[in-house]
Amino acid sequence: MGAKKKKIVKTIKVDVDKCNGCRACEVVCSAFHAAPKYSSNNPARSRIRVIHDPLKDIYVPVYAGEHAKAECMGRDKYTIDGKEYEECAFCRAACPSRDIFREPDSGLPLKCDMCESDPPQSEPLCVQWCITDALTYEEREEEVEEEEAAGGKDLEMGLESLIDKFGLEKLTEAVARMTIARKS
Ligand code: SF4
Ligand code: SF4
Repeated sequence: MGAKKKKIVKTIKVDVDKCNGCRACEVVCSAFHAAPKYSSNNPARSRIRVIHDPLKDIYVPVYAGEHAKAECMGRDKYTIDGKEYEECAFCRAACPSRDIFREPDSGLPLKCDMCESDPPQSEPLCVQWCITDALTYEEREEEVEEEEAAGGKDLEMGLESLIDKFGLEKLTEAVARMTIARKS
């Protein structure tokens, strides 16, 4: 068994009943992740999307999760309070069957990174901007294997999606060019 390390587990709790659909979370997320920071805002680039269905009286904030290379073999379909929602409505994956959680220009998948930044934020931006407290933030400490603590899985996922998009050969060439540029 590998060595253990402490890891901070960050959780955003979503209280759907408090969400009023204002979309401030989408705006600030896309602005915070713009390059340079706050230079633009476009909810299509946000890593949180509010699934909005006023006729069914529901607003559900959904966070961008893992990138899925292929569509699921099946579909999920929710019924809440007797009201039926679209297939995949609340899924977190950036998947080939839809445009949600994809960067609109490059098509690369988007994933919530909990607003990791230097200097660190006191709380994720979407939580700070949610005035109804539909989003609240919690941290706890857990013991995990060292490799997981180092973020190895996230790195692999990011590389896989880049290989899918550009191909291994082009990606290797780009890394080689960047390595030479950094050394010179
Ligand atoms: S900021 Fe809060 S209330 Fe507004 S849409 Fe987002 S989660 Fe809902
Ligand atoms: S935690 Fe940060 S990255 Fe994640 S959805 Fe909220 S604002 Fe976006």
